[in-house]
Amino acid sequence: MSSFVTHLEAAIDGTHLPADRVQTLHKDRPLWVRYDLDAMGRALSKEMLRDRPPTLWRYRELLPVADDAAITSLGEGMSPLLPAARLGQRLGTSNLWIKDESQLPTGSFKSRGLTMAISMARQFGIRRVALPTAGNAGGAAAAYAARAGMECFVFMPEDTPAINQYECQLAGARTFLVNGLITDCGRIVREGKERMGWFDLSTLKEPYRIEGKKTMGLELAEQLDWKLPDVILYPTGGGTGLVGMWKAFAELAALGWLASDKRPRMVAVQSDGCAPIVRAFERGDKHAEPFANAHTIASGIRVPAAVGDFMILDAVRESGGTAVAVEEGRIRDWMQLAISSEGIAVCPEAAACVGALEQLLASGSIRPDERVVLFNTGAAQKYPEAIASELPRLDIGKPIDWDRIAS
Ligand SMILES: *Cc1c(COP(=O)(O)O)cnc(C)c1O
Repeated sequence: MSSFVTHLEAAIDGTHLPADRVQTLHKDRPLWVRYDLDAMGRALSKEMLRDRPPTLWRYRELLPVADDAAITSLGEGMSPLLPAARLGQRLGTSNLWIKDESQLPTGSFKSRGLTMAISMARQFGIRRVALPTAGNAGGAAAAYAARAGMECFVFMPEDTPAINQYECQLAGARTFLVNGLITDCGRIVREGKERMGWFDLSTLKEPYRIEGKKTMGLELAEQLDWKLPDVILYPTGGGTGLVGMWKAFAELAALGWLASDKRPRMVAVQSDGCAPIVRAFERGDKHAEPFANAHTIASGIRVPAAVGDFMILDAVRESGGTAVAVEEGRIRDWMQLAISSEGIAVCPEAAACVGALEQLLASGSIRPDERVVLFNTGAAQKYPEAIASELPRLDIGKPIDWDRIAS
């Protein structure tokens, strides 16, 4: 029963907090989990990973869970890093890869964060959790809570994709539709804390979801033989994934595992229907103002205000990357382009990254030979409303119209 965690560190001012008890925010801002990387480096070598099962738990030493019995897993397999040559060619780049997170439990990368958050909650003896969600986080939280035998309460905007509503309900979570945005749902969770006695699993309001999402960066490094790509395109909502990967790269560098010092340029991608991070990046601001009238079919990035806004902006700036908003009205087309080019179930959020890649290639910010990794954060199948289209019908009462089939 141990981990290499030494303490938690407030992201806003560096204050140290003990990690042996339940922690949430400090000055209303998130916490980093810090490890004894020297001791970790003595206990673990990258060669030792080779014989471990291909799940995110292969990075056990780099993760916060101390008690094996608390681990709550649905078999979070390493997601494939797929070459996307045909899509790349259509966009004008020769070195495009898609890290396909759609194959994870509950069909999105949210399972990485929630397997960690629920495992840690369990380690601390928490029995009841609640969270606001724009979509996939609710489904993942409900599934892992069921797996752990915990009570779960989910609050989502009433226009959240139907699959997300039903998956929560099926997993036994008390699920509520709210006639507002994810920020309104967040307020309900906050206000209910005392009365309902639940633990708030909101994005970045507990320290461990980042650690789960960090494993995307660890896997990517391992899959590329510890040579990081030139550019990472990431659909950014609350930012846990982007911030988590940037943390992973720093920890790998500290462990001396990376083949070179060069880190990827991180590109935070949003829809122009909800682009608070992009606006703050362009203005040079430290924090992002809430984005009014947020709307996008890419529900996972419909986050008008993120508690970790400054962490996202810091990572993007430190990396020499950028933040890009793409045209909301074209997301469905980019989805079609990506899926018909590669057969990968690219979700609307990742389709926005396809649009961003197009834009950055056109402006020369990404060169055609640079290695680009685009994150497909969820499965297209979870968005029936966004992907619905009218299909031609055949009438079995009439002779088969082969000309129509052939055209
Ligand atoms: C939640 C979500 C995002 C945004 O992820 P963050 O790490 O919170 O920025 C992107 N895509 C999908 C499919 C999501 O569910």
